[in-house]
Amino acid sequence: MSKLTDNYAAVAAAAGLRYDSANNVIYGQRNGYDLCIYAADRNYGYMLSIHTAARNRSGQALTKDESRELAKSVKAIMSVKQDGNHITVVLSNTPKLEKLKTAVTDAINSTLSFLQARGYEPCCSICGQNVETAGYQAGGGYMHLCSECEGKMRGNFMASSQEKQRKKENIIGGIIGALIGSLLGVACIIILNQLGYVAALSGAVMAVGVLKGYELLGGKLTTKGIVISVVVMLLMTYLGDRLDWAIVMHREIGAGYGMNIFECYRLIPTMVESGAIEMNNYLLNLGMIYIFLLLGAIPTIRSRAAERKNENRMVKIGTVSSYNTLEQ
Ligand SMILES: [Zn+2]
Repeated sequence: MSKLTDNYAAVAAAAGLRYDSANNVIYGQRNGYDLCIYAADRNYGYMLSIHTAARNRSGQALTKDESRELAKSVKAIMSVKQDGNHITVVLSNTPKLEKLKTAVTDAINSTLSFLQARGYEPCCSICGQNVETAGYQAGGGYMHLCSECEGKMRGNFMASSQEKQRKKENIIGGIIGALIGSLLGVACIIILNQLGYVAALSGAVMAVGVLKGYELLGGKLTTKGIVISVVVMLLMTYLGDRLDWAIVMHREIGAGYGMNIFECYRLIPTMVESGAIEMNNYLLNLGMIYIFLLLGAIPTIRSRAAERKNENRMVKIGTVSSYNTLEQ
């Protein structure tokens, strides 16, 4: 166990809850409320969120004013979010174990007495009934489900992942989609370059455009699809940069000789070889664009890959059984 997981286990014990190390969630019931406590962002392991489902007898959820009031009432609480029957209490980043224990127990106690005092009863995330629920990680989020809704949801996930598997990947379509999507990135490179900027933004736009394009026309995004998409990104970034030079060349001299942009585009390597475009300048600019492509594209690809992994995944917190048929 790492220090972080040791600390989670200690926090769980202090709060009278349990720690599921496989799913990295502190969970359990307090005063009838089903709780999941986790770090929403893995890079901030000590910034925890407390997640539960509750609503009042007339089916109403926590109001905005009440959320604000709850957030203000405890020092450790940074914000309170409400979505459907879900209430998420976000705590501030607290790396010191003793402080973290206090922060979590304070936040749980205050939140639950707040909910109780205002008539918000624990309920199922989906049907809203005040019945026995258990915590789940489903589709990348957290849920507190009664056995009936759990069964329905599992059925839906199963159907949608079977549907996905039945869908054949169309690689040619995917490549065409990726190329069309990459035009957004190319446009972004050219526009920003013409304005005198090189920015990670164009890398992110390129990555989103290419991955979305592949998925739309290729039917689904597999690991193979991601690899092909990366190749398309690298090639189209080169093309975008060269097109940018061609536009500059056309504006400065080409137009005077009656050349169009594509003729200028073809001449770029000759211009670099002959020194008309300074080699160092050309390479430096291209290198910068590639660095920014990586800066923008890597987080996009990583989050897309994580999303894909969680799409049809449903795990009961506290068990090792998970349902995921997306492995390919
Ligand atoms: Zn239910």
